[in-house]
Amino acid sequence: MDLSTHYRELDARYFMPAFSRAIEIVRGRGAMVWDADGKEYIDCVAGIAVCSTGHCHPAVVEAICDQAHELIHCSNLYYVPHQAELAERVVGISGLAGGKTFFSNSGAEANEGAIKLARLATGKKRFVAFTHGFHGRTMGSLAVTHKPAIREPFEPLEPRCTFVDFGDADALRRVVDDETAGVFVEPIQGEAGVVPAPDGFLEEVREICDSRGALMIADEVQTGMGRTGKWFAFQHTRAVPDIITMAKGIASGFPMGALIAREGLEFRTSEHGSTFAGGPLACAAARATIDVVEGLLPSVPTKGERFAQALSSLSPRVRGLMVGMTIGGVCPAVAGRCLEQGLIVNCAADGNLRLVPPLVITDSEIDAAAGILLAAVEESGRRTP
Ligand SMILES: *Cc1c(COP(=O)(O)O)cnc(C)c1O
Repeated sequence: MDLSTHYRELDARYFMPAFSRAIEIVRGRGAMVWDADGKEYIDCVAGIAVCSTGHCHPAVVEAICDQAHELIHCSNLYYVPHQAELAERVVGISGLAGGKTFFSNSGAEANEGAIKLARLATGKKRFVAFTHGFHGRTMGSLAVTHKPAIREPFEPLEPRCTFVDFGDADALRRVVDDETAGVFVEPIQGEAGVVPAPDGFLEEVREICDSRGALMIADEVQTGMGRTGKWFAFQHTRAVPDIITMAKGIASGFPMGALIAREGLEFRTSEHGSTFAGGPLACAAARATIDVVEGLLPSVPTKGERFAQALSSLSPRVRGLMVGMTIGGVCPAVAGRCLEQGLIVNCAADGNLRLVPPLVITDSEIDAAAGILLAAVEESGRRTP
């Protein structure tokens, strides 16, 4: 029995089967990863838009290792190394003048924080979110997540949330009322399969929130940290949210999340907290990540355009290095074929293939990835009766 088989058996026996897995990834560099058998892949999933700086970027590895030698944990009861400098940096890139941040361990937790902050700030209890939106799997973030299959088994949930068709400003206007604490919106829906909000929609959300005294909460957990070619996707629009939540790409894979709130919106003593959140290692990793991403930002639109050209026959939706294509029921077969051919891609919802590669992906890797993907789609067409 080889090591890999043994590993699969242990997993099957002792780990809850909440995920379905095909390969065992053991090493990564840049946009490439290797499995336990030594097979090489171009990684266009990147830990689901997490490994923004590529796998094991030397600057991130060094920041984590250096900090690990000094202090791994100390608690938020004390000043934490790197935390204040990171807070300055995160607020700075958001452009929310006078804003403040609060760190968490994940995207769902950042959204939990946003729910709490919106309730505190408005004194209101209810939320509005959009169809096909995803905000996390903790009870609060799940309550504002649309997909019935993942939400309904856990009802009743708080906060109470009303779902409106994504992009339908008229429907939103009818639903947001004096009871609404906040509206959760992804500028580009990620888990739905890279579905951008229609032009002008975020501006309408902003205006509707203002007219009712509700907070606009932009969930940039997936779209943030340079993924779309700007630090945050809302920065492609004229709308400025009250609260921004982020996580995935923030620390290159070190678990971390954050919320940023505009001036005057803040947790006061003991209104919120977390043992691990914003710890020294996470903050060191995030600081290094932001430095690296800053250098990569100008190249992100160009790389996205390269994907758009190469995949034009599939009518891709491309926003920087967030790429989605509706290919229908063949999606799992196409993803499987890509894996065989050394390319990792992901089927998001509803037959939507999603590519969210590391921002360091090279032109030749983009070309190779597109070639493998096009061949896999063509092959699936031939196989389909
Ligand atoms: C992934 C994701 C989340 C949840 O983040 P976790 O770190 O998995 O809790 C929330 N919102 C969006 C838009 C996401 O893509």
